[in-house]
Amino acid sequence: MEINLEIGTSGNGGVALHPPQSWSGEAQLVEQWTRVRARLQAEVGEVEYRTWLKQISFAGVAGDEAVVMLPTRFLRDWVNKEYGELIAAFWQQENAAVRRVEFRTGAPSARPAAPDLAEPRPAQAPQQRPDTMAALDQRFTFETFVVGKPNEFAYACARRVAEAPATIGFNPLFLYGGVGLGKTHLMHAIAWELSANGRGARPVSVAYMSAEKFMYRFINALRAQSTLEFKNELRSVDVLMIDDLQFLIGKDNTQEEFFHTFNALVDAGKQIVISADKSPSDLSGLEDRLRTRLGCGMVADLHATTFELRYSILEAKAQRAGVEVPPRVLEFLARKITSNNRELEGALNRLVAHANLFNRQITLDAAHEVLHDVLKAHDRKISIQEIQKRVCEHYNIRVAEMSSARRARNIARPRQVAMYLAKQLTSKSLPDIGRHFGDRDHTTVMHAVSRIGELIGQDAAFAEDVELLKRLLEN
Ligand code: ADP
Ligand code: MG
Repeated sequence: MEINLEIGTSGNGGVALHPPQSWSGEAQLVEQWTRVRARLQAEVGEVEYRTWLKQISFAGVAGDEAVVMLPTRFLRDWVNKEYGELIAAFWQQENAAVRRVEFRTGAPSARPAAPDLAEPRPAQAPQQRPDTMAALDQRFTFETFVVGKPNEFAYACARRVAEAPATIGFNPLFLYGGVGLGKTHLMHAIAWELSANGRGARPVSVAYMSAEKFMYRFINALRAQSTLEFKNELRSVDVLMIDDLQFLIGKDNTQEEFFHTFNALVDAGKQIVISADKSPSDLSGLEDRLRTRLGCGMVADLHATTFELRYSILEAKAQRAGVEVPPRVLEFLARKITSNNRELEGALNRLVAHANLFNRQITLDAAHEVLHDVLKAHDRKISIQEIQKRVCEHYNIRVAEMSSARRARNIARPRQVAMYLAKQLTSKSLPDIGRHFGDRDHTTVMHAVSRIGELIGQDAAFAEDVELLKRLLEN
């Protein structure tokens, strides 16, 4: 951290700074600034901090003013507007003599730009609020969203809203579902689509923010006595999207503010898109009048994923990443990692990173090794019923055949595989296993185990099949 002691005339505020001799205790000031920074970071969270605040540098304190620098005019104005009050408040708590913060443009170690005064402020706020667009993930578009049974309805609704915002019946659009099922992805996709479409006649202005961000900005506005600006700003957009609405629950002031904003926008024919972890009627703690309004547009549920959807998502992601992942590995992941799409994606990313790092092929073995911890979290004791079910699914036969007397090869072989796996994966005795297979004798089980063992030694494809089944079931 460098302190620049030579501050010229101040910027737009027109307040002249005192000459350098009035600067006091550099080291102490730097320490204070370090604490201010840390508190900022804690207050706004890592992402926001990195996006907007990381580039602030400290120039010095003169009189009752702390001077901080930002590399561009845009950043300077933005940070001043959004965080000025907060930074000033933190400064004051560190150093009672500081009453104001002056924002300037310039590099950290350079002198403050002298012609600051001459710089015009941006005439107009940009159409897309910059924090909105910065908050959008480039990868979350409709093109990258894989559609399947569990999400096709939500997807169709999102598409519809992106094509024709504020259509009756689709306003508000309320998307809900568990963690990692694609709510945020769909919301970003709507925002991207709208901003792309908007290039025509009139740009569509979109504000997307998490409920937490909404709350944070509202509280800041209260503190800065600028709630009117905040309200006006939100009410000037064409589309307002609030992600993870459940975080507003219990925050009465903020909920109230949101309710008014919501009404004003809907009444003005603007589109609202909301996501939450539950449906409006299940979001307990929500004010009734808000609940009613939330539920009066389109409510779309993202259901838990299915094996097919998980498989397609993995396939699409692998293809997009340009890596070849054997179908067996995809199947393995899609069967094992069932919690949500985020974890699924994380697992695939790890696998690919590992393969790149060690210049190795992606194999079932590698998957098992690399994802050991993830898989372990999904572990549980395996039952013989589960083994039978999985084996039957794999060979496409009915579970009843596991206990039947039929000896046709296409049935007897899978039955033997299931017995073999039961022996390998459970601690059940041979007679016990026999009982689960239509009361067969323990010698039959013993024969099955040794027969499958033999076949594994002779037939590589068969061995791989059994290995896959085993992995799918295994601890
Ligand atoms: P949520 O907001 O519901 O918690 P996200 O939208 O953040 O979930 O999704 C988590 C991750 O899973 C993201 O990386 C997202 O791209 C991915 N994802 C979720 N659903 C799908 C889908 N249907 N197709 C492709 N990727 C998906
Ligand atoms: Mg989300």
